[in-house]
Amino acid sequence: MAQISPTKRKNRPLTLSSGDAFQPFRYSVGRFGSKFLVALRDEKKFLAVKCGECSRVYSPPHPLCGPCYKKMDQWLEVGPLGTLTTFTILRFQFIDPETGQKKPVPYGYGFIKLDGSDTNFQHFVSLESGEDLHIGMRVRPVFEETRTGDIRDIRHFEPVPGD
Ligand SMILES: [Zn+2]
Repeated sequence: MAQISPTKRKNRPLTLSSGDAFQPFRYSVGRFGSKFLVALRDEKKFLAVKCGECSRVYSPPHPLCGPCYKKMDQWLEVGPLGTLTTFTILRFQFIDPETGQKKPVPYGYGFIKLDGSDTNFQHFVSLESGEDLHIGMRVRPVFEETRTGDIRDIRHFEPVPGD
C-alpha cells in the first residue's frame, strides 16, 4: 500500500457519502398492528384499544397497557379528526427510514391526539395550506387513493379549514 504524504492526508476529506441509502428491511407489525392497518386501508378508520383497568385509550393499539400491564381487548374507533399536540418543521433532508429516500423539504411532522384517544399518533403534517402550524390546531388525515396496508396509506394530516 502506498504511503500518503502528511500534507495530502491533511487535505483529504475524512468521509464521503452520496447521501442515498437502500434499506431493504421488513418487520412484522403484529396482530394489533395488522388489525389497525387493515381498518385504515379498507375503511379509512382509526382503531384503538381501551384498557379495562384505567380506561386509557391507545391508538395505534397495543396489546398491553403500559402503566397497568394488563392485556387489552376492548376495540373502538377514534378520530379521524385530531389535535396537534406538538410538531416540528423539517428543513434539512435526511433519509426517510420508511422509504430509503430523501423527502422533499420543508414538511411538518407532529404528534396528533386523535379524538377519543389518550395517546399521540405520529405522522407528517402538510404545510400546503400555508397556515402556520400551532399546538392545539385541529387536523384531519388525507388518505392515498391506492392503499396497501401501510402507515403511508395516510399521506399526511392537514389543518381542518376554518377551525
Ligand atoms: Zn391501564
